[in-house]
Amino acid sequence: MLDIKITKTETLKEKITSNLGFGRYFSDHMFMMDYSREKGWYDARIVPYQNLCLSPAATVFHYGAEIFEGLKAYRRADGEVQLFRPIENVKRMNNSAERLRLPQMPEEDMLQAITELVKLEKDWVPSGEGESLYIRPFLFGNDDKLGVHSIENARFVIITSPSGSYYAAGINPVKIMIETEDVRAVRGGTGYAKCGGNYAASNRAGEIAEQKGYAQVLWLDGVERKYIEEVGAMNVMFKIDGEIITPALTGSILPGITRKSCLELLRNEGYKVSERLLSIDELIEALEAGKLEEAWGCGTAAVVSPIGELFYNNKTYIVNNGKIGDVTQMLYNKLTGIQWGKTEDTYNWTLKI
Ligand SMILES: *Cc1c(COP(=O)(O)O)cnc(C)c1O
Repeated sequence: MLDIKITKTETLKEKITSNLGFGRYFSDHMFMMDYSREKGWYDARIVPYQNLCLSPAATVFHYGAEIFEGLKAYRRADGEVQLFRPIENVKRMNNSAERLRLPQMPEEDMLQAITELVKLEKDWVPSGEGESLYIRPFLFGNDDKLGVHSIENARFVIITSPSGSYYAAGINPVKIMIETEDVRAVRGGTGYAKCGGNYAASNRAGEIAEQKGYAQVLWLDGVERKYIEEVGAMNVMFKIDGEIITPALTGSILPGITRKSCLELLRNEGYKVSERLLSIDELIEALEAGKLEEAWGCGTAAVVSPIGELFYNNKTYIVNNGKIGDVTQMLYNKLTGIQWGKTEDTYNWTLKI
């Protein structure tokens, strides 16, 4: 059990209720806790939302030791607030920490930090259709010396941001560019860790794709540029000739909680599901034979995001006539139903705050 010292703000912010967007507004308080090799974790506290005061020599600024998580608090119709599989985020944060040699923390402590902050910020959980309170825990190296060495000091912070529906304009299938130059991650690297560095490595391809009118890039593997990995910052799934295929977790792919939940739902519904290598050639062949029935990305932010168009080697391929497919729609309905408490949670995935 953490002993969390709470310092409440004296001036509550005005709550914005329309046009929330994503990650633009922040609640009144934040959680912070520090780590040193001698003391371990210390000084767990909830304080007014504020700027961080860090040494310009702090490790995070120079050598990129930073990891994060992303989850949501959902308001149910009965007014209660719940989280979706938060223990999975906690476990993944510790796995990411292990890869970057940042300090791990007891699972129950991290979960307590998240739940206590959300409890305090309950009024910030919006109640509009598709809205939620986005929770962003992050952890970074905080030594104030430039020598490259193992991390002795770190800080863990959680901020929360009321966010609007990802689909304010309806679920519209997106255009995706298959990236053949840059790669996001390689096996043995940090692809499976949720770290800021992976995002920095993705910036160039993402920006070029955006300039060309595509929503995201589809990443191929870093060794042969042959196997499909992820789409933007989402996992990806395809329905080819009745089989649902998602890339296997080979080390360069982020193990998404939405991915895991989709797979469990699909298997439970009796679909044929494979986690395996899927080459770009197999995908293009399926497209040309008219056997690619559906394609979608999945992640916490969008839940599922249907793919309506793929661009590869100067050719444009249309998926499912540019419309959302039945399986994609079913996954969206089931997941959002459980997350917002509209349908019974037979999987025991939700945690009421
Ligand atoms: C966070 C993330 C995902 C999706 O994970 P969820 O747990 O489903 O939100 C997928 N890919 C990358 C690169 C990510 O950072």
